[in-house]
Amino acid sequence: MLNLVLFGPPGAGKGTQSAKLINRFSLVHLSTGDIFRANIKGETELGVLAKSFIDKGQLVPDEVTINMLSEEVKKSPEAKGFIFDGFPRTQAQAAALDSLLTNMGTTISLMLALEVEEEELKKRLLLRGKDSGRADDQDPQIIQKRIEVYQNETFPVKDYYMAQAKYKGVNGIGEVNEIFEHLCTEIESVNK
Ligand code: ADP
Repeated sequence: MLNLVLFGPPGAGKGTQSAKLINRFSLVHLSTGDIFRANIKGETELGVLAKSFIDKGQLVPDEVTINMLSEEVKKSPEAKGFIFDGFPRTQAQAAALDSLLTNMGTTISLMLALEVEEEELKKRLLLRGKDSGRADDQDPQIIQKRIEVYQNETFPVKDYYMAQAKYKGVNGIGEVNEIFEHLCTEIESVNK
């Protein structure tokens, strides 16, 4: 299997690149943010709970997120591989993902990190907020909070994959296709 973690701060371009990568490599895309938003739209119990955290720019608690992700993985037993987008966001989630994949007889192949500086992120998120209607992208204070949460809780997840020699950083500024080709080059170097 080819299992990728697409990593990076809010607004780095994970969703955009995931959509292209799943086509090129025939992978199943699991975006925890997308799954939460679908639940919010469907007014499920999970959605109501997730919304109370997302609206404040906080992370949804690990236990809830990990259980949800595990269920989603189980829905695709025939998958050739997965792109995890927006997961893991904490060290506990990274450890849980490892044991989930180990139980399936597989592992993470690579963490690809999109590197974009803070000022650019804020611009992109506010722009996305206008087009998408996402409430968490419209309020500069919520955006600031998400960037802080990223720095404090999510950024250290990088070390987890670095220690396993699975981390690759890619410049996330430039043309979408150019960034995509850089990502593909990194993937092809581990997927021989
Ligand atoms: P972005 O990367 O732009 O912040 P996402 O769509 O990935 O957007 O996530 C939106 C929100 O959903 C996050 O701010 C967070 O509240 C919640 N969320 C998504 N993934 C996770 C996760 N793995 N753990 C906890 N909360 C999450």
